[in-house]
Amino acid sequence: MELIDPVIYVEKYDGLKIMKRLERACRTCYRSEGTITDDSYKKLIKNCIARGHESVLEHEKITIRCICDIGFYKDLTRHRLASFSNESTRYCNYGKDKFDNEIKIIKPCHIDEGSELYNIWYHAMEAMEKAYLEMSEKGATVDQLRMLLPHSTAAEITMSANIREWRHILRLRCSKMTHPSIRQSLIPLLLKFKEDMPELFDDISYDEDFPKDKYSKLLTLED
Ligand SMILES: Cc1cc2nc3c(=O)[nH]c(=O)nc-3n(C[C@H](O)[C@H](O)[C@H](O)COP(=O)(O)OP(=O)(O)OC[C@H]3O[C@@H](n4cnc5c(N)ncnc54)[C@H](O)[C@@H]3O)c2cc1C
Repeated sequence: MELIDPVIYVEKYDGLKIMKRLERACRTCYRSEGTITDDSYKKLIKNCIARGHESVLEHEKITIRCICDIGFYKDLTRHRLASFSNESTRYCNYGKDKFDNEIKIIKPCHIDEGSELYNIWYHAMEAMEKAYLEMSEKGATVDQLRMLLPHSTAAEITMSANIREWRHILRLRCSKMTHPSIRQSLIPLLLKFKEDMPELFDDISYDEDFPKDKYSKLLTLED
């Protein structure tokens, strides 16, 4: 069993280009392409958002790849307007060499390491992995094996969404109301979007009390 931290990889994008392309798309409505200047996108995008003219934001998408726990992707995949490719617990047999004959587990960010609760959780994960490997050894199918896997199991997902949907997802999922493992990964993503595309994400609030030292690592995925 290997305990790992979650990671978010963001496919390389150019925030300025995204905002300028959105402006060009929007100006089709008013045939005002001739008024485009270096920074005219700023006012235009703010106005679109303020007036609810948000279909404009659907013209550009961003893709991320996450190493996360199954609970995280179970919640995330409820968002029907995003697109997902999830590591399949029906095809991946973690008892095989390809997976180093072990199950990778995401460390819970909200159970203190070394505490009594943590130790109970840790022993449950160990027992689960032992049973998984034993069943695999005895020829269990992957469909049978996956019945053992808990929410803490690490998995990879690739997710794409347009800017309108990202705004919606991040508004919902970075609030205090959501599970800590979601906030752990999506708050740093929101902060990156805010930095790169302030006109598009400035108005989205998040749980500012979430401990920064628990944020997932965020990396850029080059083409
Ligand atoms: C704090 C929190 C707690 C939750 N708890 C639970 C829970 O206990 N149980 C549970 O089952 N789920 C729960 N959910 C999931 C939640 O109900 C939604 O399924 C999930 O957040 C997806 O959001 P959405 O439907 O707004 O967005 P998306 O699927 O991302 O869709 C985006 C928007 O498109 C529109 N849209 C999409 N599909 C339709 C449609 N068929 N008809 C009309 N409009 C549509 C809506 O305006 C929607 O907001 C919870 C979510 C949060 C954030």
